[in-house]
Amino acid sequence: MIRFEDLLEKVRAYSPDADVELLRRAYVFSALEHKGQVRHSGEPYLIHPLAVADFLADMKLDVVAVAAGLLHDVVEDTLTTIERIREVFGPEVAHVVEGVTKLSTIPFSSSEERQAENFRKMLLAMVDDIRVILVKLADRLHNMRTLNHLPEDRRVTIAQETRDIYAPIANRLGMGKVKNELEELAFRYIEPQSYEALRVKVDAKRRATEGLIEELRKTLTAKLSEAQVPVTEIDGRIKRLWSISQKLKRQKIELEQVYDFIAMRVVTESVKDCYAALGIIHQTWSPVPGRIKDFIAMPRPNGYQSLHTSVISEHGMPFEVQIRTIEMHRMAEEGIAAHWKYKEGRIGDQRDERYFQWMRQLLEYQQEVRDPQEFIQNLKVELYPEEVYTFTPKGLVKAFPRGATPIDFAYSIHTDVGHQCVGARVNGKMVPLRTHLKNGDIVQIVTQSGHKPSRDWLNFVVTSHARYKIKHLIRLEEKAGAIELGRRLFEKDARHYDLNPKTLAESEAWTKVLSEVGAQKPDDVFALIGYGKASAKQILAKLVPADKLREKPPEGPVASVVRRVLGSGEEKIKVRGFDDLMVFRARCCNPIRGEKIVGYITRGKGVSVHSATCPNVVNLLYDPERRIDVEWDKFTGTDAAARYTVKLTMEVEDRKGLLAAVSAKIADINTNIKNLEARTDDVQHARIDVTVEISDLKHLEKVIKSLRGVDGVLGVERAGRTG
Ligand code: MN
Repeated sequence: MIRFEDLLEKVRAYSPDADVELLRRAYVFSALEHKGQVRHSGEPYLIHPLAVADFLADMKLDVVAVAAGLLHDVVEDTLTTIERIREVFGPEVAHVVEGVTKLSTIPFSSSEERQAENFRKMLLAMVDDIRVILVKLADRLHNMRTLNHLPEDRRVTIAQETRDIYAPIANRLGMGKVKNELEELAFRYIEPQSYEALRVKVDAKRRATEGLIEELRKTLTAKLSEAQVPVTEIDGRIKRLWSISQKLKRQKIELEQVYDFIAMRVVTESVKDCYAALGIIHQTWSPVPGRIKDFIAMPRPNGYQSLHTSVISEHGMPFEVQIRTIEMHRMAEEGIAAHWKYKEGRIGDQRDERYFQWMRQLLEYQQEVRDPQEFIQNLKVELYPEEVYTFTPKGLVKAFPRGATPIDFAYSIHTDVGHQCVGARVNGKMVPLRTHLKNGDIVQIVTQSGHKPSRDWLNFVVTSHARYKIKHLIRLEEKAGAIELGRRLFEKDARHYDLNPKTLAESEAWTKVLSEVGAQKPDDVFALIGYGKASAKQILAKLVPADKLREKPPEGPVASVVRRVLGSGEEKIKVRGFDDLMVFRARCCNPIRGEKIVGYITRGKGVSVHSATCPNVVNLLYDPERRIDVEWDKFTGTDAAARYTVKLTMEVEDRKGLLAAVSAKIADINTNIKNLEARTDDVQHARIDVTVEISDLKHLEKVIKSLRGVDGVLGVERAGRTG
């Protein structure tokens, strides 16, 4: 058991002017508050905060951190409030204790790995004082070391959480030593059988290889000293059980096949020495190709630096060698804690910009930014610049790439939630679906059953998951639409020639047609027609002799009409002879009610409707088989008239008051102006572009006529008809 006086000695050793009184008061306070409480081991509770504080002292942290270690469980486990801690120990200690207490209340559901990943990031992002994390890690380490006293189910839960959350945090902070111990302990408690089986096997290997490790160490020492490469430390060890087990799993091999479970480590004085040592090692033993990794030139994201290589010993035994400087070694073991040392308090090595960059920045923010809110923002941007963190109404964290929208959010919940998303509330307010989500947004998705995603969504979703799901459904819908369209076109043409489509579909010739066009089933043939890849007439020609396809008089008026309301809900276009086809107004010419229109069967999107004057129509006519007759449907009842936006371009005299006259004229005939822009073309002439809301062709003609009547207007054209 750790004695408080020993702890004080430890702190004094690295920090002679430490506020020992603060520590003493913290110790007494903690002892009083935890009085009577016992650990699962049966020992007094106080052992735990003392062990945590001792570990923080091992990391040579400041007195605030060590005091917080002594007090870390007081608020959670006793009646003491955080206000009381603040009164007695001041704001800094209270802040760290509060942070640690808050962390314990986060519901870590570690069952799902992705969720854990989110929490891990969230945790890092929300902690505004790195000492909070260091105290928490010390706490967790002691709890893991004493885990055997807990009942089995608790052991597994805590160990799993450690593996999912705390070990990766330690790793992210570069604290290799803590991370390794946490992982090893987690392995032992989560998979006790595999752990034990592996331990027995590896121990046997250990005995067999101890001599070898010593031999390798001697050879290395001799070779390096011969080459005059200054070395401060050379040691060898068997790799950790967790890392061996990971390797076995990853490569699906048995322990016998793991070739490099020995790792040698060479610690040198400078970077130059590292590379020199690497050269000597490769001269001494043959390197395994493809196993040299230069983490000095390219440090790992957590700042880890080292040279790694695998070589084969003279006994044919491969082993790994890690080469690094003293400073790199310290960083690999202690990570961020190495920067937080009491005496130094300085920021890492300034000479190498790449060295520990993110951690340095993290600490710089830590020191410079006093406002915790701002710190958190900076930290998030610093650690995960490309991500935003949002919440479900139940508080689950969802992380997205920056620029994500409620649609991305909806698809991340469930595909059906995505498909049926019709709206979103962000922080309680309805927002447009293309809104960019921000950090901390609470997002609630509004769904409507039967709703389908819009193609437009593809323009703003950012997650590949959402994109894939939307495309997939649209493709399915298009296919279904094409089949339906093809079937109807086929039936219509068949009837046109007095043929019975049913009889045709059951004929022997039909089976032949199927294989001829490479189709499996009738729907495939209809899809071909619907997509415009084959015409109904072409298929009919394969089914019946040519003389049977004699022309019949054109059909009479269409009997039944079912309106299809699309998109903005304004357009009603009927297709002669068909109900309820996929119909849309072509964007190139934006035809309006009353205009002469033609339909064209697109490849997969249904029937596009163009103005008969659209320049594209001329180009489309080369494939007359895909042309289809369409007409505007009649309005019934008191429907609000459809509204089309039409842009008009006017050439006008450049004089004052004309713009006002034009807008007054438009208002006179009860027409809404959506946009109005004027600019001077040359000395005498100006142009006015006006976008108006039009109900039909008659209305448009009226507007154009009135404008032409305005004094000073030289010409009015409908814009945007150039295809
Ligand atoms: Mn604790």
